[in-house]
Amino acid sequence: MPANDMMKITDNLLKVYNYAFVEEMPYGFYKPNAAMYAGVRLEKSQYNCPKCKQSFQVNIRNDNDGIIYFSKSRIAQQKEVYQKLDLDFPEDWELMEKPFTYQHIGYCAKCAQEDFLNAAEGGQRINNLCHQLYLQDMLVADKAKKYTTDAVQKWLDTITESSDLTKYDLSNPEIMQELIWIMVLSDTEKVQEALQEYRDNIQPILYEINKLLEKATPAWKAYVARSTSLPESMSDGEYHEYTLAFPADNTKGQDVYYRREVEKSRVEMFISQRRIASIEELLTDVGFQEQWIDMVVAKGTSLKK
Ligand SMILES: [Zn+2]
Repeated sequence: MPANDMMKITDNLLKVYNYAFVEEMPYGFYKPNAAMYAGVRLEKSQYNCPKCKQSFQVNIRNDNDGIIYFSKSRIAQQKEVYQKLDLDFPEDWELMEKPFTYQHIGYCAKCAQEDFLNAAEGGQRINNLCHQLYLQDMLVADKAKKYTTDAVQKWLDTITESSDLTKYDLSNPEIMQELIWIMVLSDTEKVQEALQEYRDNIQPILYEINKLLEKATPAWKAYVARSTSLPESMSDGEYHEYTLAFPADNTKGQDVYYRREVEKSRVEMFISQRRIASIEELLTDVGFQEQWIDMVVAKGTSLKK
């Protein structure tokens, strides 16, 4: 059985990718003070594409009585964005009282595709390749999760008599987990294929990034995708729970592209992270899925009827 408390390779890649490309500030633990923060009744985020001028909105989850704390510098930035969009910014007293919509200016996926996602060289090319690499890192773990679950289902489909299940001591969770894990390990062909595909896909990406990095400057500006389903801090400098705006749970994430400063050293850090290289590592990364137990229990119940 894989240990669940180990730092998983995929979790680590996700963290380092966010560090290199998405998050800009460290996390702190404290309550916001009135001198540096302003409470805002944040209800929606609106994404405005500067090219096609289309926009869409995302609802913000209603935590902390609907109040999110903005750093004063972020309020000043938001005023500028409102001005650019030709919108009236609310009075100070209104921020806490009336529903506020946070405005973003970022390229939509369609315009990004037309303008820079096919960039053939330079910093933008490195960013695009790193994003592809990141998606491959996440995809192989998702596939392995699916295929291992399929393996459990395939095993359950072969069981027709309730005695096939009751011969095991399924009231003992450890025995049940061991049993399921053995079934997963005995049917790894699809997982192996996914791993091979992953390795074939990332090899040329890594090769090209490394070549580009040889010529790259210590930092560059280029567009970076950010999903609208991610929480966002309304604080500059340091963020904490009172400044985090969470999109409503039913938000379907869309990538929006922002121009950001990217540091070569962070990109190198992301590239040089350990990546899944063996079937054992991939299975450890997937780990035991709680839903497998539910699947076995449901099967047992259906056979008893
Ligand atoms: Zn657009």
